[in-house]
Amino acid sequence: MTFISHRIEKIMEPEMALMSLRSKEMENRGLDVINLSLGEPDFSTPDYIKEAGVSAIRQNFSHYPPIQGYVELRKAISEKLKRENGLTFSPEQIVVSNGAKQALANVLFSVVNPGDEVIIPTPYWATYIEMVKMVEGVSVLVRTSLESQFKMSASQLEAVISHKTKVVLINSPSNPSGAVYSKEELMELVAVLQRYPDIIVLSDEIYELITYTENHQSIASLPGMKGRVAIVNGVSKGFAMTGWRIGFSASSQEIAEACVKVQSQYTSGACSIAQMAALAAYTHPLDESMAMQKAFKMRRDLVVKMAQTIPNLKIMEPEGAFYLFPDVSSYFGCEWEGKVIETATDLSMFLLHKAMVATVTGEAFGEPLCIRISYALSDDRLKEAMIRIKDALALLK
Ligand code: PLP
Repeated sequence: MTFISHRIEKIMEPEMALMSLRSKEMENRGLDVINLSLGEPDFSTPDYIKEAGVSAIRQNFSHYPPIQGYVELRKAISEKLKRENGLTFSPEQIVVSNGAKQALANVLFSVVNPGDEVIIPTPYWATYIEMVKMVEGVSVLVRTSLESQFKMSASQLEAVISHKTKVVLINSPSNPSGAVYSKEELMELVAVLQRYPDIIVLSDEIYELITYTENHQSIASLPGMKGRVAIVNGVSKGFAMTGWRIGFSASSQEIAEACVKVQSQYTSGACSIAQMAALAAYTHPLDESMAMQKAFKMRRDLVVKMAQTIPNLKIMEPEGAFYLFPDVSSYFGCEWEGKVIETATDLSMFLLHKAMVATVTGEAFGEPLCIRISYALSDDRLKEAMIRIKDALALLK
């Protein structure tokens, strides 16, 4: 007998949190574990943002903020979208939330009816699947691969569209693969979507500022997409502000109003102090964010270079975010002390115990051939981790 609802019984907890817990337990036993399972920048929030938070406390920003977010912040986000992305969203179309996560939940709650289909390319950020379950939608997965640079093609998209399709979810740069859709690739997807005007795109752009190639391109900026894209973004990754919990959605007026309704009954407005810190983030030059991006790029190069020296590891050079997502399937069937590595989860556990490096199994992201390695860590620790991984994998026969 359980008091828990069927809906919640079906929800999984994030695998990264479990892996992190396991590595913490090992650390508590005095072991030197290198944690490459985390999804957050290791940098601290820039000082000018911290100061804005302190000043908000001093100025008594201690009352309930408006549910939709302070108008100054929504204006600043509207201007940022114009300046950096060439997009026109009025402050009324922006809803400030507790992180991009709540913004995603707001949009899904607002648009998905039970049984509606949400197209999600694999590998995906695991939360999408669980959120779709919560709103009683149906995830329709599109399998991509290393060969396709982990990107969904126009023909793959067209093949899974049905009369029940409501949303197509695009996450570029991607967690976990680091794939970034180019303008041309997005235009091919848009050409398909133009034939299906009842489908909206949910575009998760949280890693926008951590892109190493050409400028990040929002699908919302492409011809024909006006009014059909709900963008989700926030300060967590690009400004090293994961703990402040500020994200936003930018969508049609209708969807924005629905998001406000959802948020008004679930959580109310996001933390007043964190909103004022986010205002500083969106109104200052991006120098510190760009310095972090540069550091991530150097680490990306380091990790890729070291991974290329490991036989049997197949990799794609990530173009954004801070993850490497190698295909480890060549090691399936190999043995270590009588135990056969059969899955990516087995390999990830082997690396935790033998190399004392925590990674995340690709199974958590719907891609059973890969593991995710986060490179949001100092160069020294990353080098050490990659050496340990290489040495451990060499033991597999
Ligand atoms: N979207 C993706 C792809 C993410 O990886 C994350 C965080 O890991 C989020 C959204 C959530 O961001 P936030 O911390 O702003 O809720």
